[in-house]
Amino acid sequence: MSTDKRRIGIVPFGEVPEIALKVIAGHISACFHLPSQILPSLENPEYAVDRGRCQYDAGIILETLESMSFKDCEKVVGVLDLDLFIPIFTHTFGEAKIGGQFALVSLFRLAKNPDGSSPPSSLVYERAVKVALHELGHLFELLHCEDKRCLMHFSGSIEELDETPLYLCRYCSIYLQDELLR
Ligand SMILES: [Zn+2]
Ligand SMILES: [Zn+2]
Repeated sequence: MSTDKRRIGIVPFGEVPEIALKVIAGHISACFHLPSQILPSLENPEYAVDRGRCQYDAGIILETLESMSFKDCEKVVGVLDLDLFIPIFTHTFGEAKIGGQFALVSLFRLAKNPDGSSPPSSLVYERAVKVALHELGHLFELLHCEDKRCLMHFSGSIEELDETPLYLCRYCSIYLQDELLR
């Protein structure tokens, strides 16, 4: 498949700032050289609330996306402003299956600095872009990278995310190019 046909859909759940979606879309084009499209928003995924944790189960939301049809998009990134979790972690910034079609990014935890202060919205969106591109990397079969100066390095905290660059290391970049040429 040629890269111009490999459209990436960006689907907001509930209320998500339009600018966040546009910044993510712009970086998908600029960093991964893939066309992207902002899709109509979906309802807040109330079906995925875990009442005990007061958080949203990322796995259940991904399963719901998998049951839907996005025929014009090879991959789809869901963006929400809700506190996501996967069972083995207290929370997660994003989630994707390796080689899957769908990823999730949550702005919720990105809007607070480790010291409790509020970052400027430009920094929140920069963090969201990193998470979105990292998860998209997983959808294109990229695994976690040992190199701290690589977008595919695992970030478990905001500090680590802020240290992570917006670009792939040479190795991951070549791997992604190979994957996109398949
Ligand atoms: Zn990851
Ligand atoms: Zn790497």
